Amino acid sequence: MQVSIDQDRCCSSGQCVTTVPEVFEQDDHDGLVRLRLTVLAPAHHADVRLASELCPGGAITVTEDGTSA
Ligand code: SF4
Repeated sequence: MQVSIDQDRCCSSGQCVTTVPEVFEQDDHDGLVRLRLTVLAPAHHADVRLASELCPGGAITVTEDGTSA
């Protein structure tokens, strides 16, 4: 499972950082999302899926088994 982000769609709301701070962080200057990790440990999978669902900008893409989810 991998995760990618589209900063052009990020509105700096911060839900992803609140949900999975081990994976997401926000830039100190503009508040845009940044990834701390791209290849995820199994322990993070459920929370990253949730973060993708919660993101108001649709900026988080989860890829599993070669397909986007
Ligand atoms: S939840 Fe989405 S819009 Fe909010 S900071 Fe994270 S990536 Fe950006």
